Amino acid sequence: MKKNEKIAIFLLVFAAIIITASAFEFIDQWKDDVIIGGPGVTRIAQLSDYFPELKGEYCDTAIYFLESDEPGGTVFVLGGTHPNEPSSMLSAVLLIENAVVTRGRIIVIPQANLSGYSHNDPQEASPRKLHFKTASGVRVFRYGSRATNPIHQWPDPDIYINQFGQSLSGSETRNLNRGYPGDPKGNYTERICYGIMEVIRKEAADLSVDLHEASPEYPVINAIVAHERAIDLASIAVLDLQMEDLNYNLEISPPSFRGLTHREWGDYSDTMAILMETANASQGRIRGRTDEALALTGKDKMYVKAAELGRLYVPYDENGHPIEERVGRHLAALNVLIVNMGMLFPEKTVEYYGIPSYGELMEQGYANYLLAAQ
Ligand SMILES: [Zn+2]
Repeated sequence: MKKNEKIAIFLLVFAAIIITASAFEFIDQWKDDVIIGGPGVTRIAQLSDYFPELKGEYCDTAIYFLESDEPGGTVFVLGGTHPNEPSSMLSAVLLIENAVVTRGRIIVIPQANLSGYSHNDPQEASPRKLHFKTASGVRVFRYGSRATNPIHQWPDPDIYINQFGQSLSGSETRNLNRGYPGDPKGNYTERICYGIMEVIRKEAADLSVDLHEASPEYPVINAIVAHERAIDLASIAVLDLQMEDLNYNLEISPPSFRGLTHREWGDYSDTMAILMETANASQGRIRGRTDEALALTGKDKMYVKAAELGRLYVPYDENGHPIEERVGRHLAALNVLIVNMGMLFPEKTVEYYGIPSYGELMEQGYANYLLAAQ
């Protein structure tokens, strides 16, 4: 055998090993996350129960109902719009595994864009999984991509013209938070949006909250964005949160910014629509090493430096922004919104227990509130 042939065979075998290893990783990203219905979960539905055309599609995500026998309001919580914003899904999971509703009901979708969890953004060096060590073993959740998997929706147009005739960059065609109110005949992502809209409409949600995270250099951060019908409620909530030393910027949903939850949920249903953001360095543009630790602790010296230079919209020091803080903020804000909805509209009262306070979560750690995997 000539030397060149030996090199060629070696390279072929080497390529085959790399391809096989990455194929296993690729397939592994499709495995469902384990989310355990806690003591308050009364039933689990699927998105296709509201929009049957999604039946059999990967995006047919689970909907958890936490209901009481006492009449009251209905709160809808959406996690996982953007699967690279971990506090969003993790806040929803904590609710599902811990909350018990004693008046009204809470409906939770933890993984709104399930397709986005099945892949990861190339060249972003994002972690694939997040691990939490609990007393009974390790719980694992996926860290996905901001957008729908191109396997489900491809190709992107050069320019995405949304349902309102506005031009967005082509990749936004797979961004769940640009496709509302959805279109039953639209692209894959717009059909998911339509399904979620149907949940809000058919369940007559009084308050609907979409959980997000943003880069620390993004102006809308530690923020509550409210549709005009939710602005009274959100204003009171922001003041209450300030009393708990949790500072929030309140923004009114801009009427011309179409396709987003805080706009279209309010315009296309009777719900009070709210979007909330926490600070996540692992999706930022000036982050350093990107790994699971960054996603969970937010510790990053580049962001500390950026804060010193006055370039950020959130305080940033060497303590970072741990996942407990980000989940704690989402759950504290959600609680204050729910309590005040009951004050403003007594017939829409929702009461529940089992959720740690911000302080308890910071002290005990997130993993402490995950149930044992069966
Ligand atoms: Zn987001």
